[in-house]
Amino acid sequence: MKLFLMLDYDGTLTPIVENPQRAVLSAPRKKLLKRLARHPEIKLAIISGRKLSVVKRLAGIRNIIYVGNHGFEILASGKHWVHPAAKKTLPLLKKIKAELKNKLHYRGLLIEDKGLTLSVHYRSLAMSAIHAFKRDFKLALKPWRRAIKITTGKKIFDVRPPADWDKGKAVRWLIKNLKLQKYAPVYIGDDKTDEDAFRALKGVGFSIKVGFGGGSLVDGHLANVAAVYRFLLCLVDK
Ligand SMILES: [Mg+2]
Repeated sequence: MKLFLMLDYDGTLTPIVENPQRAVLSAPRKKLLKRLARHPEIKLAIISGRKLSVVKRLAGIRNIIYVGNHGFEILASGKHWVHPAAKKTLPLLKKIKAELKNKLHYRGLLIEDKGLTLSVHYRSLAMSAIHAFKRDFKLALKPWRRAIKITTGKKIFDVRPPADWDKGKAVRWLIKNLKLQKYAPVYIGDDKTDEDAFRALKGVGFSIKVGFGGGSLVDGHLANVAAVYRFLLCLVDK
């Protein structure tokens, strides 16, 4: 059976780290992913909330499919596709980034410009500051409430274009546009944004959550990143 194997990056292929730039793959793990990429029965995609060029550089695997910015950009067969709504929202995002930098002064706060979306990381904030930060964040974005979309993840807020688009929609886009209907879809992810993909694959694919929770959306669980690689190893050895 042919597999369309879709893997989230942070928290799935690398443990969540304090500094997102440090989320790199160890040599043996990268080697295993390269074996999967070369496998004749497997189509491999890395699907991330990060900027596409960044996740591509961090993973460092050639000739696979990359999905960045939660689906707003896709690199497949050498073509870089960008969602039209994301192109349109670019100037506004620049403005919002400046506004957030101007208004939110919290030690440890990281505003990551991902081109088509913004990620506001509050992992390193003092516990006592989180409540005030969340209030100020919402207040700062109030003028553009209808012009953007805010989603949440693990100690992160994402500021996205206002389109009805997510990892799940991107997964469907890939299956249709790359004609992968004959492949059995398998998706592994750890976070809230992966639930859109789990939902999109309900009944048609196999969804695996890293960690527990996720309820009825998933077909199975893997305890942690190490368990993900043990599972992947079974696929190349099959
Ligand atoms: Mg993740």
